Amino acid sequence: GPGCQRPSIYRIGWQLLQGASWINYPCLSASTDSVRAFSTSPCVRKSTHCGHILFIQRAGFASPTPIQAQSWPIAMQNQDVVAIAKTGSGKTLGYLLPGFMHIKRLQNSTRNGPTVLVLAPTRELATQILDEAVKFGRSSRISCTCLYGGAPKGPQLRDLDRGVDVVVATPGRLNDILEMRKVSLKQVSYLVLDEADRMLDMGFEPQIRKIVKEIPHRRQTLMYTATWPKEVRRIADDLLVHPVQVTIGSVD
Ligand code: ADP
Ligand code: MG
Repeated sequence: GPGCQRPSIYRIGWQLLQGASWINYPCLSASTDSVRAFSTSPCVRKSTHCGHILFIQRAGFASPTPIQAQSWPIAMQNQDVVAIAKTGSGKTLGYLLPGFMHIKRLQNSTRNGPTVLVLAPTRELATQILDEAVKFGRSSRISCTCLYGGAPKGPQLRDLDRGVDVVVATPGRLNDILEMRKVSLKQVSYLVLDEADRMLDMGFEPQIRKIVKEIPHRRQTLMYTATWPKEVRRIADDLLVHPVQVTIGSVD
């Protein structure tokens, strides 16, 4: 209401990374006494009734990276994002934190499939993303799994069967599992294409397009890429709707 000052989303992201870290969604107000900076706001007291408490464990980060500071406010307003930034810039949390809030807000049943899908080019990257998702999502009881080739499908299918909020996958293996009808993407409403340029370089474009056909149009799509060549621009044009473009550093 009037006079109720909401902390800026940027500030919430910063608090999250510092580990101060209770967030109420949809109020977008930090709460609990661990965030003293907000404890005098009437919004905070009210927000304790909103439920959906998201807790991110202490990470010890001093401040958001530029890509995080720019991605969070856009992504949390449910807008599509194209982010162009080099590796090591903290992109993973740039899309994971808004993704977690998206999950907490929707409260979908994991029985109907994942809510968040992250596509990444390689097994190594996919497992790194999963590690970050597990580390930061665990205390908010966000469940995640990883699908990649070169490993038996059995354990991956078991995780899917149990139901997860977040799937991180390489396009090849996800397509195999889709063809086996072992996962439904009908509930995905937050799609991330991480390292999009590398996925295209590796020839995954047809696989990506096939996967996206299984995802409803009503979704938020985020694309992260280190370079911005024609091929990447074209797939961005096809898969994203009025994206906000964020560029950190120079673009090749
Ligand atoms: P990118 O995907 O852009 O290559 P990552 O998301 O993998 O970058 O992040 C690189 C490293 O930086 C990871 O170890 C991550 O935990 C760490 N990191 C992420 N955000 C921050 C931050 N705000 N401050 C310090 N380190 C961070
Ligand atoms: Mg990355």
